[in-house]
Amino acid sequence: LEYCKALPKIELHAHLNGSISPESLRQLAEKRLAGTVGEAEAATGALSVLEALEWKDTFDLKDFFPMFKHIYALTNNMAWLVFIVHGVIKDFEDDGVRYLELRSTPRDDASTGLTKELYVQTVLQAISTSPATKISTRLILTIDRRHSPEVAMQIVDLAIRFRDQGVVGVDLAGDPYAADFDCKHALLKAKAAGLKVTIHLGEIENREAESASMLEVRPDRLGHATFLSEQLRAHVYEERIAVEMCMTSNVLCRTVSSYEEHHIKEALELDHPSILCTDDKSIFASPLSCEYALAASTFSMTKQQLFDLSKKSIDAIFANSEEKTRLRGVWDTWAP
Ligand code: IMP
Repeated sequence: LEYCKALPKIELHAHLNGSISPESLRQLAEKRLAGTVGEAEAATGALSVLEALEWKDTFDLKDFFPMFKHIYALTNNMAWLVFIVHGVIKDFEDDGVRYLELRSTPRDDASTGLTKELYVQTVLQAISTSPATKISTRLILTIDRRHSPEVAMQIVDLAIRFRDQGVVGVDLAGDPYAADFDCKHALLKAKAAGLKVTIHLGEIENREAESASMLEVRPDRLGHATFLSEQLRAHVYEERIAVEMCMTSNVLCRTVSSYEEHHIKEALELDHPSILCTDDKSIFASPLSCEYALAASTFSMTKQQLFDLSKKSIDAIFANSEEKTRLRGVWDTWAP
């Protein structure tokens, strides 16, 4: 684990509101307990989630997504958003991450005057004022499966508008059981504007039609890609579409039955571009160094193999080629 912590790493699949440390959430909840009745209620809800997380060792995807409602109640004003973004970046930096793509869903909150635009501006401002100096951070805007085609388009327009300030791409995420809606136009618009696209694909079974349709967008990366037909998986391999692999998340949410059977095994054997990621590091209590240690112990990987895996992840980042060259320099000069 010590080697995995020291190793420079790339994190490409981290949902902001799932990456807030329990300490930060507790701090926010405690500040709110003394507030109005509504604020105190929100704080109590969040504290109950924190308590549940202490003993939870598996999740059902059906109760997983509603948990975010309680976290959102604590991260719905601009000052608190800045506080959590700074905390999350610092946690990743302390864990040896040297390049981070945070992803987050722009949202409105009438009670605090938050709008999607202000949300994006605030997160970007927090990224640019982060005191962490060893890590560089970019932002991906998430379209939630519960959104509508209009909201998806609004999010893509925000991504285009803020691309010069650190937004590098767009993601499709959210509850995979939510009704399907047509966000293809929005994703294609993002691609046409030169933004990168990553899609949570095949997170649950029997989503072949959706997966096939999403692959037509020609995404630059995929999240999870757990359940795919042989034909679609062959397509992903042929096209060399990089996959963000979240081992702990998949096993704890029981979409993969064990670490040994995780689909990263086959991908590594085929030398398919695979990036170890955390998904929601605070919910699953597993920082990126633990994901590397887990891969090492599950698949008997050597230190050199871990280094190569982490260095190869640079190829899949959404930032430009200068940033890739700079990062390769960081890896080349690193000595354990
Ligand atoms: P946010 O985008 O910063 O608000 O982070 C939380 C959101 O990320 C949740 O409400 C979900 O929509 C999404 N999310 C977190 N984990 C997962 C996952 O494993 N699959 C799909 N979506 C996820």
